[in-house]
Amino acid sequence: MQAERLAQRAVEAQLAVAIDVTFPAPPPRAGSLHPLRRTLEDACGYFERRGFAVLLGPEIETEYNSFDGLNIPADHPAREGLDSMYVGPGLLLRPHTSPMQIRAMRANPPPLAVVTPGKAYRRDAVDARHSYMFHQIEGLLVAPGIHMGHLKGMLTGMCRELFGANQSVRFRPSFFPFTEPSAEVDTTCPGCAGRGVRDNAQTCRTCGGSGWIELGGSGMVHPNVLRDAGYDPEHVTGWAFGVGIERIAMVRHDIDDIRVFFENDPVVLAQLA
Ligand SMILES: [Zn+2]
Repeated sequence: MQAERLAQRAVEAQLAVAIDVTFPAPPPRAGSLHPLRRTLEDACGYFERRGFAVLLGPEIETEYNSFDGLNIPADHPAREGLDSMYVGPGLLLRPHTSPMQIRAMRANPPPLAVVTPGKAYRRDAVDARHSYMFHQIEGLLVAPGIHMGHLKGMLTGMCRELFGANQSVRFRPSFFPFTEPSAEVDTTCPGCAGRGVRDNAQTCRTCGGSGWIELGGSGMVHPNVLRDAGYDPEHVTGWAFGVGIERIAMVRHDIDDIRVFFENDPVVLAQLA
């Protein structure tokens, strides 16, 4: 009997050590938004607060919405770099988010204020700067009296939301078939505050020393695009822009290789959370 009690106590003593119900539980491992998703939501949130609707569109698009409706006819040289990834006759993985401009205008009379975020696909070899799949956010504002001043103001606000309060935006003349006039959009490099050199006196690797980073394209919607979508270019004007989300996220997190976003290494993503 005595031996039994001793054995019982020995077991209880072991259990008391093995299971300490007062010991604090390990903290739960909370996940976080992927840096691309967060950048996309930050950009969309900026426009939503200014009255823009967020529209999502199909990733398989018609040739018409991808090209012809955007003033890029079959023989246009601008089509060459985009005309790929076909999944059936007249259907392709959209090479940009611009087809949603056509869908939005055909479905809604002016005035129209929309942003259309999402994935786009191109026949690009994967390297530090390119991927066959990437994210864009496209903006479109059409109403009477809209001009490029509105566009510059809105993009400056977006850059200040995404990068910091002291951002500036500059336009460089460019060409896109679906806008006239067209402009490339640059913003002050947040890595060096636009100086071109880092605090350690090294040339800034984010902007290559120029003090500016390129975000994407923009311009006033071409009258042909408005007309084809059923709008009257004599009564309404509009601007549109498209910027790459990976590009913005790379600058925000000071990353120089786009593949970091797609490898999904939890150790790396935790540092970007
Ligand atoms: Zn820089």
